Amino acid sequence: MLKISWAPSYVLPLPPNHRFPMSKYEILPQQLLYEGTITSANLFEPAPLQEEVIVRTHQVDYWQRLNNLELTPKEIRRTGFPLTSELVNREITIAKGTIDCALFAKQFGVAMNIAGGTHHAFTNRGEGFCLLNDIAIASNYLLDHQLAKKILVVDLDVHQGNGTAEIFRNDQRVFTFSMHGANNYPLHKETSDLDIGLPDFTNDTFYLKTLDTNLKNLLEAVEPDFIFFQSGVDILDTDKLGKLSVTSEGCKQRDKIVLTSAKKNKIPLVASMGGGYSPNFRDIIEAHANTYRVAQEIFF
Ligand SMILES: [Zn+2]
Repeated sequence: MLKISWAPSYVLPLPPNHRFPMSKYEILPQQLLYEGTITSANLFEPAPLQEEVIVRTHQVDYWQRLNNLELTPKEIRRTGFPLTSELVNREITIAKGTIDCALFAKQFGVAMNIAGGTHHAFTNRGEGFCLLNDIAIASNYLLDHQLAKKILVVDLDVHQGNGTAEIFRNDQRVFTFSMHGANNYPLHKETSDLDIGLPDFTNDTFYLKTLDTNLKNLLEAVEPDFIFFQSGVDILDTDKLGKLSVTSEGCKQRDKIVLTSAKKNKIPLVASMGGGYSPNFRDIIEAHANTYRVAQEIFF
């Protein structure tokens, strides 16, 4: 069964006119239920996350100041969200969702988080709507509990997975692969184990070929026993922050390539949702929904 992490706290009330499309975390599960891609049995609510698991990935000082709502105004500005206890609770719940998904993926082959992919969170700071790095936290959890030996992070959000790259810079057990827009935020890129910076207006053909070739090579060279997939849909041609020209169908093909590779090679996979900023909200929901539709089609 496709297990999907979701909790009411994923939907954080934001000030009016805030540029983050928070309502997608409410609409997406509704859409998937409505169209019959999932039933309520697919959804599960993650339990709270213990502090010791967080500080395995994030610096104690950063976590404590975040948890006590004591980040500096500058640090808060960089995250893009007002700092509230609801926000902290949201981030903890999402990170726990990715851990729980990882355990379900070991059982069912795949599991997905309706949020997460918070790849701009570093060991000691947050930025770009990311405060805690769910994929990094879940990776460390798997490694610490001997549930994985070699993890591949496939980060296909249009923005580089800079936080994840920094966190695992000196950890050979996690291979970070980021394919992103070369001219997109972040201006200063960190060094992943493999970075592919795509030129502006990259189209479906070039995008999918580049992904397919590199993913095949990585599966052979890295031999991962677990995959985290950051499935951001800000690669779409309609996206207002992305600069690529990938169509909705191209984005769906991308998901198929990643999920098929995992299934074929019998490597458990967790997808975290990542970004999506198309002005037409339906484009965002449709592209995210495709990731879940493709997972049901391929795995179940
Ligand atoms: Zn993004």
